[in-house]
Amino acid sequence: MNLSPEQFLVELRRRRATRVRRVSFRMNRSTVWSLTQGGRVLNLHAAYRTATPELLDAFADLVAEGGWWTAARRRRAASAIRAWPPLSEALRDARAEPRNRSESACCATFQQSRYLRTLYRDLNRTRFEGRLPDDLPLRLSNRMKRALGHMVPGEGGAGERSVREIALNVDLMLEGNDEELVDTLLHEMAHAADYLLTGHRGHGSSWRAWARRVGCRPVRLNDRPIRTRRRRTAAVTRVPPPPPPLAATLAR
Ligand SMILES: [Zn+2]
Repeated sequence: MNLSPEQFLVELRRRRATRVRRVSFRMNRSTVWSLTQGGRVLNLHAAYRTATPELLDAFADLVAEGGWWTAARRRRAASAIRAWPPLSEALRDARAEPRNRSESACCATFQQSRYLRTLYRDLNRTRFEGRLPDDLPLRLSNRMKRALGHMVPGEGGAGERSVREIALNVDLMLEGNDEELVDTLLHEMAHAADYLLTGHRGHGSSWRAWARRVGCRPVRLNDRPIRTRRRRTAAVTRVPPPPPPLAATLAR
């Protein structure tokens, strides 16, 4: 059974752990649990949604108020919580996935977001016959080093395929990179189409077919020379002009 944050809190209270006022679940890659706001908020790895009654006992010990005499108990609880087998499995899964949106913020300005959305919708309409979801999450990242973009596949409730996000390197918004921006977005949209419509990942033949069909280079994105920020901390606020290539590339 999956516990909601509220149900988890009720279970703690039932075990007389009353200091915690709120529980929140996160799909972290390494942090298993943390207490914040003076011990009032318990942040938990999402794997603990399926905590057993014994494990809930351990959590109650962990967050209980008390002096030195509870320290040993708390230590024991902490190691039981850490050693819980489903946790290590979930951590392994989380690390295998590319970083997700909740862990890395979008650095786009409002105008950049609007620009990207318009470009995406235009390309979806003109190159993909509108077969991609119009509201697919798009993000600019200032953390990517060599990568120019990525598409993160996901799964919906009933095992249905979905796309968690398409993220692009913010450097693509710099002057001189406009063509690469369109090519990279098409590249990632081709990954989205390939995954959503055929269930494939990577740069195999079905992806290459999409790439050729929509008019981006059917090769990996590695080692493409683009202009980059001088300092990695510099903000990029430029909004490229509406792509004149849109009309031109249609004829290509
Ligand atoms: Zn790719």
